[in-house]
Amino acid sequence: MHKILLLPGDGIGPEIVAEARKVLDVLRADFGFDAELEEAPVGGAGYDAAGSPLPEETLALARAADSLLLGAVGGPQYESLPREKRPERGLLGLRSALDLFANLRPAILYPQLAEASTLRSDVVSGLDIMIVRELTGGIYFGQPRGIRERDDGQREGFNTLVYSESEVERIARVAFDAAMKRDKRLCSVDKANVLEVSELWREVLESVAPDYPEVALSHMYVDNAAMQLVREPKQFDVMVTGNLFGDILSDAAAMLTGSIGMLPSASLNRDGYGMYEPIHGSAPDIAGQGMANPLATILSVAMMLRHSLDRADLADRIEAAVGGVLDQGLRTPDIWTEGTVEVGTVAMGDAVVESLRAASN
Ligand code: NAD
Repeated sequence: MHKILLLPGDGIGPEIVAEARKVLDVLRADFGFDAELEEAPVGGAGYDAAGSPLPEETLALARAADSLLLGAVGGPQYESLPREKRPERGLLGLRSALDLFANLRPAILYPQLAEASTLRSDVVSGLDIMIVRELTGGIYFGQPRGIRERDDGQREGFNTLVYSESEVERIARVAFDAAMKRDKRLCSVDKANVLEVSELWREVLESVAPDYPEVALSHMYVDNAAMQLVREPKQFDVMVTGNLFGDILSDAAAMLTGSIGMLPSASLNRDGYGMYEPIHGSAPDIAGQGMANPLATILSVAMMLRHSLDRADLADRIEAAVGGVLDQGLRTPDIWTEGTVEVGTVAMGDAVVESLRAASN
């Protein structure tokens, strides 16, 4: 029996998580998926319910669960709160409390949506990249850091880019494991021509490689990787990189697809425990209007099944069902193009459920 904790959060979060829940319910009813679902407030909803963006009860439920599904957090009504009460603190709190160091960000462009990209459709149609980003180390956390005054009276800002061998090794293993579930090609991105940290990063990647003889490991400098992502993105299968480079490259890769409402993500710990969420935010501009795209959240459920719950078979079914509704021409407003049929959040969720049900018969 899997325990799944749903964290709808704020803005469109509750609307899109409700659709993902319908998908989980069909898996339980029609596909023999044994899971128990609970729900808890986080972010602004946590603050409203219990005065904290990560209420103690929510954290306790998260620790007891096998996987978390998050909608999104944040909203203009929370922006004037003190920093420690702001919604994003809930997310950061979960990441650090559960040691979610590995961020998996797929950039997939369904051929049906190739026109949504700003790049030529032949360059991006069918794109399927997985970026594995280290999430809890590197320059975003390194000490010392700060702004100080020099002897000559000028101020200087400084941060430290530091990775230990064990931090590199654990993210490397997540990336090799991900490659084993895909096309078995792993490209490690660094700046080893300039940075000692990257020299060590490469050494560690090479030292892990013999444990994965089927995976072809290559290395690329980050500047070249940025160029290659927009020149010929389909050359990549899995990319692994540190926190800073991953932050930038994963956003660039996401934008290759042109459809923020379609992309899921995972943050995993050493045991494969994970928090799954769409890459987009709480979209306050469209919240409550029934027009949010629920597919990124539904595809986050597929990632959960593949990476934490060992049910790749069900993940395949969800992804096929999403492909099916796109084939039917159904589109939420964010991905609508001439000649397709505009539907709202609930109708899109229902269509995925229908498509799944049809496949079970
Ligand atoms: P956003 O991702 O919420 O929205 C950007 C644009 O994309 C908006 O026009 C929005 O309407 C659209 N959009 C996003 N998701 C969509 C969906 N599923 N379907 C259709 N359209 C969608 O980013 P933002 O506007 O910069 O941030 C809004 C709030 O979300 C802020 O409070 C921010 O802090 C928060 N945020 C949260 C997360 C998270 O929870 N992981 C991530 C990013 C931003």
